[in-house]
Amino acid sequence: MSDFKGNKQSLPSRVCMHCQRPMTWRKKWAKCWDEVKYCSERCRRSHR
Ligand SMILES: [Zn+2]
Repeated sequence: MSDFKGNKQSLPSRVCMHCQRPMTWRKKWAKCWDEVKYCSERCRRSHR
């Protein structure tokens, strides 16, 4: 309970593999967060 370091938000975040932008967890990714690597469909398609 005391090991959270400045992480006020419990939502995970990740950097898009294509545009390198940080993206925040979205509800629609709840079931497939482990597979989400791109912030958008556009990035996903432009990155083979
Ligand atoms: Zn992106």
